[in-house]
Amino acid sequence: MLKRVFLAAFVATVFSSAQAVELSSNFVQSQSGKFSQGGLVVLQLTQGTKVSLNGEALPVVDNYTVLGFGRDARLAQKISFTRGSKSAHVPLTLTKRSYAIQRIDGLPPTMVTPPEAALARIIAQGKLKLAARAGLRRETDFSQRFRWPVKGRISGVYGSQRFYNGEARRPHFGIDIAAPRGTKVTAPAPGKVTLAEPDMYFEGGLVFIDHGLKVTSAYMHLDSLNVKVGDVVAAGDVIATVGSTGRSTGPHLDWRMFWGGARIDPALVAVGSPSP
Ligand SMILES: [Zn+2]
Repeated sequence: MLKRVFLAAFVATVFSSAQAVELSSNFVQSQSGKFSQGGLVVLQLTQGTKVSLNGEALPVVDNYTVLGFGRDARLAQKISFTRGSKSAHVPLTLTKRSYAIQRIDGLPPTMVTPPEAALARIIAQGKLKLAARAGLRRETDFSQRFRWPVKGRISGVYGSQRFYNGEARRPHFGIDIAAPRGTKVTAPAPGKVTLAEPDMYFEGGLVFIDHGLKVTSAYMHLDSLNVKVGDVVAAGDVIATVGSTGRSTGPHLDWRMFWGGARIDPALVAVGSPSP
């Protein structure tokens, strides 16, 4: 009975057509997350179900899959399910986000427009970051509830158009949580460390955790790192401490999330409140 109620609620929220309601319960056991720009959705499929997003097959491990939508993802999306001779093509419309403008002043000019001498280093570090997110880790750590890695005041939100010292730069893709230098940063969910660099040009101390099937979380401006590449962490493990390294004007954690190349809003993934 509970399951029936849950599925009905799920379908009413997510799918628009009555026909999809009937079909989807054949394929999806449970679902969490938001069908929104910046959202991450975890699906627990019925045994043997295959799923694709906009025609691209998604990997499935232990009946779980995950899909995400970037900051400016187009609103019209299509999920397809097949199991045996049954199939369903489900059109859905993402929730549209509106984004703020944020101005950050008082940065050293070299952090707004890096000097020529720093470019080779920045390019090499960009490759390092891409390589750290290139693998397909066939684990389902992403299906756990994500906790806030640090508690504190939110000082910057996902998606904001950023101006640094008055100059327009790329939008902000993380959530900034202000906390004193040295505050412990904990893993929000289990995963494997794929990057642990103490001195990146923009990010300063930087850690990546791979949560499986292309879901990666990133932690920036760290003061000290407690993990190394290859470490497997449990939710709640201390991975680093808060700092103000890289392009930063004060101690805070910049927490980011990715699904493949798509930038996910951590605030849509985390459960509970970031308030201390
Ligand atoms: Zn930030």
